[in-house]
Amino acid sequence: MIRTSLPLTDDVLESRKGALFRTLPLCIGLALCIALLVFGVGPLTNYYLSESKARGDSTMKLAVATLDGELARYERLPQLLAQQPVLREAVSHSDDQGIVRAANDYLESVNTLLGSSDLYIMRPDGLTVAASNHNSEFPFIGQNFSYRPYFDDALAGRLGRFYGLGTTSDRRGYYFAAPVQDDDKVTGVVVQKVDLDRLESSWRASEYEIIVTDPEGVIFLSAREKWTYSSLAPLSSEMLDRSREVQRYAGREIDVLPVKQTGSYQEHQLVEVAEKDETRTFMMIAQAMPDAGWTVRVLVDISSARQQAWNMALIVILAVSLAALAATFLIQRRNRGLELAAYHRATQALLERRVSERTAELGAVNRRLKGEVEERRATETELRRTQRRLVQSAKLAAIGQMSAALSHEFNQPLGAVRNFADNAETFMQRQRYDEARKNIVRIQGLADRMAEISRTLRNFARKPRQQLEPVDLSGLVRDSVEVISWRLKDRPVEISIDNVPNGLKVIAEPVRLQQVLVNLMANALDALDDAQDPQIRVSTESVGDGDTMTLCVADNGPGIPADLRERIFDPFFSTKGVGQGLGLGLSISYNIIRDFGGELRLRDAPGSGATFEIELRTASDGEGEAST
Ligand code: ADP
Repeated sequence: MIRTSLPLTDDVLESRKGALFRTLPLCIGLALCIALLVFGVGPLTNYYLSESKARGDSTMKLAVATLDGELARYERLPQLLAQQPVLREAVSHSDDQGIVRAANDYLESVNTLLGSSDLYIMRPDGLTVAASNHNSEFPFIGQNFSYRPYFDDALAGRLGRFYGLGTTSDRRGYYFAAPVQDDDKVTGVVVQKVDLDRLESSWRASEYEIIVTDPEGVIFLSAREKWTYSSLAPLSSEMLDRSREVQRYAGREIDVLPVKQTGSYQEHQLVEVAEKDETRTFMMIAQAMPDAGWTVRVLVDISSARQQAWNMALIVILAVSLAALAATFLIQRRNRGLELAAYHRATQALLERRVSERTAELGAVNRRLKGEVEERRATETELRRTQRRLVQSAKLAAIGQMSAALSHEFNQPLGAVRNFADNAETFMQRQRYDEARKNIVRIQGLADRMAEISRTLRNFARKPRQQLEPVDLSGLVRDSVEVISWRLKDRPVEISIDNVPNGLKVIAEPVRLQQVLVNLMANALDALDDAQDPQIRVSTESVGDGDTMTLCVADNGPGIPADLRERIFDPFFSTKGVGQGLGLGLSISYNIIRDFGGELRLRDAPGSGATFEIELRTASDGEGEAST
């Protein structure tokens, strides 16, 4: 990564500026959530309260209709029963057991038929004459219910209605009463008690609390058993007196329900009811049923409405938060994409600049190299030219050296010949023929010497075409020593032959190999002129796998100075005085050995005389001839 070295381009700066707006959706989302909490929960609660109220209203309508329907079913029946002769007679002849029994039976069968709680008839003094429960444990017969308001109403010729707790049965009921009339005179009262427990139990399945209260606010019917016979507010003594007077609750204690009004919604009260474990808040919807003389109330639990409002608020907050997060994520991704693109553009620009810089550098290096190559070529050309000049100079020098040597070699004998010839002429004129003949013999010797020099030069120039053959080395070495031995007559030089086994054969041409050996030994003798205890040693050494061998010619003379070692094989190189050496011996020997497929070299052993090595191929047994 080269991020650190990346330049801050406009693109990159622009994309970083965009980063400031990344949190904008989050801020908007937060503001919306706060606004929703502050301003939204109230309206939402109202909305759910209105929904609860609508459902409460429906429940109320249903409850009122059911109650109305139930009461209407029985409302007219006492009037009808009051016209029955069996009952009319019973109130008129209450002492007649037979009539009373017939009335009892009738009332029992009708009560069973109608499904009401009780049916009974009373005399105008309030005494019960006959009753449907005449066979029960606590029959109404003989009881006086004149304290009930329905009795007064019926006695007054009206239809009586009342609800309350039975003083004998201790069961709640709704009482309908009608007068038994005989010629406009009220002779008795027929009462029908309707059991409302069935209705009450059907309310238990309702979602809401349904209660029925009397005009004092005492709960008479309620699906919740504990609430029954409790008042919604503390009762005043007048209220209590009124209830006691009609014995609506048959002397039962009236508790006060722990209800507290906390507010109102529209025209309805909002109340809190403290229960054993919790306090619940209700909206109380009330409707009076004047015919029945009671008020029906539906209590709608509004805590669920509040909970729903909060739930909805939280859902909306959650949705807003998610939307804000999603928007932030999208913006961030877009910005990141932009930043990445800007980064890539900057990186590419940087790379392109580096590539062009590097290309320019390489171009410069290339040009410099081309220049250097040109320079080298020029130098090489100059070097070759110089080399050619040097070779030319060396050739000229060699020719000059050769010319000087040859002219000296030939001029000296020629001068001597001229001298000897002049002397011979003089001796002949003086008739001194012996001296003249001696001079002529000297002239012949000089002519022979010049012929010898000429022959040497011819050998040097011309390459003889002779056949190579296995040569017995020990015999050849001995012959060579013999050839040179004339030079040892007045020289005490010891020549030793070591380790040259008989029968060792090398591939060579015997005459020319002998010429080489004689030349090397002659050079050694020349070098040993001033040596103490002069010695020449000829020996062999085997080399490698036996295909070749080395013949060494060593002396204990002064050796060859290091600065001359390179040049001794050059033609016409000689350190000997004029007339003593042509400087061709080693050069010719070198070429001869090379012709044999071998090598002539100077051993690198400074300070211990000179040792020349002749490496030659050995001839295997039965080997005949070898070609040049
Ligand atoms: P020449 O003998 O005519 O000088 P060579 O070619 O035979 O020519 O020898 C060249 C030179 O090599 C000699 O002049 C001499 O200086 C040197 N040289 C040859 N052999 C020996 C030797 N054994 N010891 C010292 N110098 C030698």
